[in-house]
Amino acid sequence: MSDLNAHVVIIGAGHAGGTLAALLRQYGHTGRITMIGDEPHAPYQRPPLSKAWLKGEADADSLALKPLAFYAEADIDFRPNLRAVKLERSARKVTLSDGSQVDYDVLVLATGARAIALPIPGADLAGVMFLRTATDAEALKAKVGPGKRLAVVGGGYIGLEVAASGRALGAEVVVLERETRLLARVATEVLSDFFRRYHEKHGVGFELGASVIGFEGDNGHVTGVKLADGRVIGCDAAVVGVGAHPNDELASESGLETARGVVVDLEARTSDPHVFAIGDVAHRPMPIYGRMFRMESVPNALEQAKQAACAITGRPAPAGETPWQWSDQYDLKLQIAGYAFDVDEIVVRGDPASGKFAVFHLKGDQLQSVEAINAPPEFMMGRQLIGNRKRLDKAKLADPSVSMKEVAA
Ligand code: FAD
Repeated sequence: MSDLNAHVVIIGAGHAGGTLAALLRQYGHTGRITMIGDEPHAPYQRPPLSKAWLKGEADADSLALKPLAFYAEADIDFRPNLRAVKLERSARKVTLSDGSQVDYDVLVLATGARAIALPIPGADLAGVMFLRTATDAEALKAKVGPGKRLAVVGGGYIGLEVAASGRALGAEVVVLERETRLLARVATEVLSDFFRRYHEKHGVGFELGASVIGFEGDNGHVTGVKLADGRVIGCDAAVVGVGAHPNDELASESGLETARGVVVDLEARTSDPHVFAIGDVAHRPMPIYGRMFRMESVPNALEQAKQAACAITGRPAPAGETPWQWSDQYDLKLQIAGYAFDVDEIVVRGDPASGKFAVFHLKGDQLQSVEAINAPPEFMMGRQLIGNRKRLDKAKLADPSVSMKEVAA
């Protein structure tokens, strides 16, 4: 049941929340829309924070999803610098950090995720940083430059992007990774090796299998990262990029179902019909894989904003999408479609040494996921093949002389 006059309160003014606010108006919602955000900024894009923006190739205005004036023009009551601290579902009320309260008819949790901190000695030293917000990015940019030594803790996508941007800014960069290969949780060995070699070619140092047990400092500022084997890696700044934790406490404390993320259905609705959850905070169904999952990507934030906007305004649910995401490092564009669940075979198409190839993850003869480096046709066609669950001829897939169109035929 929808009510175009309902008061919709959105908690979190990020990619998902900002997109939803705009979509609600676009879909004809006439009721009040209130968007509460604890950052000082209107909704902005985070991906450039580790890429173009960090390297100085994009300005602050280009990060914004919409110009600030849009929210007033669209009659969206955007309230920055305010945090929602308590949710009372029985009274349909949210308490904010200034003590005020907001009543809602429909509530949307779009609170995203936060960078995971390392509970180790020295983690509170100045110069030990994270990269989640524009404020974090400003602080990091001020520390990275020619001759500066940057230690990156964590060899995942954000860590590697920071490493690439750090090199572009002239810093000395070393990446410290606990696993014996990069991207261990998310990518194949082919891709891990490829990225290590590419970064090494650009002057990044690696310590793999390196367990970080503390930070050393002088006068309250970090001077080195201490490893379990006793070595200290000297640095002027350290970025910790070891993953993110969903901001799902408002939900769990109010008794909503959570599972490291707020559990929602395909309309982005929680176990309470008046409450939705979208974006990085949501633990959502993924029908093509027949399972629930929490995703951290812009396409997911956009898809779920659309699901919630349709449900709130009484439109039919949008068609399901095949998840995808990307990473930019140096001149490499990595595009990933799907997730490598229950994979029993890997097919590599093209030669990694050429800097243009794709890794296909198969379950039987069905495609689960593709990682494409500088290979848009493999990504685009792969994404379609994941979505339509087509059975594939693996020999054709592995042969770059057979076009992707023919593979898909
Ligand atoms: P967010 O954009 O994080 O927004 C949540 C907002 O809610 C934040 O402003 C938060 O401060 C606020 N908030 C939290 N709790 C409260 C509260 N109680 N009260 C009020 N406000 C609250 N994705 C890709 O697809 N490709 C990429 O290349 C890519 N690169 C990335 C690079 C970086 C450095 C980062 C940090 C992320 C990157 N991502 C990338 C992930 C992508 O940015 C996120 O998936 C996306 O921002 C999720 O949107 P969201 O609205 O769920 O969360």
